[in-house]
Amino acid sequence: MNDLAAGVFKPALSEQDINAGFVPLLGDLATVPADYLSEVAQTKRGLERWVSDANFRAAYEDDPVAALAGAKIDLIPDQMTPLIQREAALRLNEAINAGETDTYPTSVLRYRAFIREKIRHRREHRLDNQPRHPRMAKWWRRQVYRLAGQLGSQKADRIVHAPAAFELSKGCSVHCWFCALRAEHLKANWEYGPETSRQWREILTLMQELLGPALRQGFCYWATEPLDNPDYERFLGDFHAVLGGCPQTTTARPTADIERTRRLLRLTYGYGVNIDRFSILSLGVFNRVHEAFSAEELLRVELLPQNPDADERHKKALVGRAQDHAQQRARELNAESASSTTACLSGFLLNMVEHRVELITPCPASARWPLGFWVIDAATFSSPADLDAIMRRMIAEHMPSDLPLLEPVRLRPDLRVRVIDDTSLKLQSRLTLTISSQPCARQLADLLANGDCSPAEIAERREQEADVPQAETLYLLQDLFDKGIFDEEPRPAAE
Ligand code: SF4
Repeated sequence: MNDLAAGVFKPALSEQDINAGFVPLLGDLATVPADYLSEVAQTKRGLERWVSDANFRAAYEDDPVAALAGAKIDLIPDQMTPLIQREAALRLNEAINAGETDTYPTSVLRYRAFIREKIRHRREHRLDNQPRHPRMAKWWRRQVYRLAGQLGSQKADRIVHAPAAFELSKGCSVHCWFCALRAEHLKANWEYGPETSRQWREILTLMQELLGPALRQGFCYWATEPLDNPDYERFLGDFHAVLGGCPQTTTARPTADIERTRRLLRLTYGYGVNIDRFSILSLGVFNRVHEAFSAEELLRVELLPQNPDADERHKKALVGRAQDHAQQRARELNAESASSTTACLSGFLLNMVEHRVELITPCPASARWPLGFWVIDAATFSSPADLDAIMRRMIAEHMPSDLPLLEPVRLRPDLRVRVIDDTSLKLQSRLTLTISSQPCARQLADLLANGDCSPAEIAERREQEADVPQAETLYLLQDLFDKGIFDEEPRPAAE
């Protein structure tokens, strides 16, 4: 049975869209009618030109027909304008909601169905990242809740919280000026060979026992460029052989060796990857990508416009090395993102060259966490078995299932407590949580805000002063803990 037949793809088009005649594109493309595929691919290509090329945008404003012809985009303005101009896009939304889309080209509607499929896929498969180990699963869910409260649901929705990532190099050859992870220069690669392959497979097997199928959502880069490692594809092969899935790839070197990139896309498609990504660092790279790869080849490849010509919506996060260029390159940076994050991992980050493992989770970037993630623990390992022991120790030490009864609990520093009335209060950050049916809400608010009381003390005081049974208060506190309300930020070493 080949990989496609094994059903590793996960199409996510809604039943409503399927009934309306749309075709899933996050799946086996062999069954998609050629004209359908071509329309969506060409539309995607036109939009990529729009977001990446300032000259094209200016030319389109002047004369859309000439601009499209000049850029060799096989579309007419009616196929582009509803997808790029705000008012036209709003009218399109209304038409789709009302089911009155007869006047729109099929290419526009099919492209929008593809976008709906991708968004639905991301939402539906978010929980695929949840680790299997019960303590780690609870910890993982707390980090998802916490970050949503700290960033707001819209930004947090984009962060998948993968449970593991593997660096197959030390450093990165690309050295982007905006690198949010401040990747150092490339120093070494983890070379593939019989011994490393054996270790790699053993590590994946051991980690699968801890993380379960979620490990398939891991990826083989972090502060590294995957294609720096000449053996990247062989490591992917082992990953697929052990786990039956394949990591998504993001490369900033799509044109360094075009045939290698083409082979990689075929390989990952064969392994059931839905989306790979090219990071576009210059208009020159963008043009070479469009010249070298057909629109159809790029259908499932997202181009991330990181070039100076990119449109307003694609400014870069002001995190990591980008902060060194805050003034000189202000036009390309999103000033409001200084306390944001681009990190997308809540779990184990491994560097295979150094045999190092860190337990990390995203947080708003700050003076203490300038790269936008907490490093909760770190260690080096001498063997797969040693790594297994270290990860289990980290889970035991840093991922309590239950709120410790006798240790002081404090709210996350970003939360504010607001008493609404005698029996209800709100915990407010970017998201608000309402606690209701609590007699003497003011007392509860004060105890929560205090930061020096243990759950046992809070429960006792609630019983004495508000006549609330201790078990009820402990249940409430555990529920708040599970929702990431209490501060779990690693204490500074001196504390
Ligand atoms: S952004 Fe990616 S490609 Fe660029 S330096 Fe950082 S790790 Fe390397």
